[in-house]
Amino acid sequence: MQDIHYNQPILSETNRTQIMQYALVTGGSRGIGRAVCLELARRGYPLLINYANSEAAAEETLRAVEAAGGTGSLMRFDVSDVQQVDQALTHWEEEHPDDYIAVAVNNAGIREDTLMVFMSDENWSKVLGTNLDGSFFVTRRVLKNMLTRRWGRIVNIASLSGLKGLPGQTNYAAAKAALIGMTKALAQETAPRKVTVNAVAPGFIATDMTRGLDENELKKLIPLGRFGKPEEVAATVGFLVSDEAAYITGQVISVNGGLYT
Ligand code: NDP
Repeated sequence: MQDIHYNQPILSETNRTQIMQYALVTGGSRGIGRAVCLELARRGYPLLINYANSEAAAEETLRAVEAAGGTGSLMRFDVSDVQQVDQALTHWEEEHPDDYIAVAVNNAGIREDTLMVFMSDENWSKVLGTNLDGSFFVTRRVLKNMLTRRWGRIVNIASLSGLKGLPGQTNYAAAKAALIGMTKALAQETAPRKVTVNAVAPGFIATDMTRGLDENELKKLIPLGRFGKPEEVAATVGFLVSDEAAYITGQVISVNGGLYT
């Protein structure tokens, strides 16, 4: 398969059909995932919009993708459940024998913050299961076709917490730090086949996940003085997926208003 240039406006329906490269975004129903879906649609990718529970929100993402001139379909599965991941993706592959998922954005994530002394086994395993195991299950499942077709882009949505550690987030920080380790190791495995693997580490981004936080207090800590927007994370994902980023792999790009390094 030849390189395909996506840094163009929406491709025609015909071109999309010929190209047969899809983009899967886990947790595409809300927040950063929805913005990533729109960014990738703008770059001409037909979307597979994954979600776990919020069907109405996922449909809203799909409508926004279509309103922007893109195409997509919903794909419901819980990323932390390996059987659901495999079933959904096997089903899709059976229905699309000539197509493949060329771009995978592991964005689905949750946090369950509490100090470690109070952390239950469930707090730990749910957060590791979704943020880390889920990224592994999805990536492993889509990787083979990327390697066979010799082109792919994997972007893992990590976090400032995975670089710096934040109190109350030992589970979440461990999951995101491990995701960064996975990114760096996998990048070296897949580079010979032109499959790049990178991570984006957002700081505080205004989504449902940060809704309960005291933005007025926290923004005093952020050099740029505000929370980020989902679209600002999505723009970085869009760049990493583009041909301009073909020589970037195994990296962690922070989008955090200067909050850390
Ligand atoms: P939101 O809470 O707004 O959205 C989370 C998304 O993940 C939803 O689409 C949700 O689906 C999906 N999801 C959750 N669990 C699962 C699961 N088991 N299987 C499939 N999908 C699931 O979060 P954000 O948009 O803020 O976060 C997106 C990513 O960015 C996460 O990985 C998060 O850790 C990371 N991040 C966010 C930051 C922020 O400040 N917002 C900062 C740093 C990192 P559904 O709607 O069906 O529940």
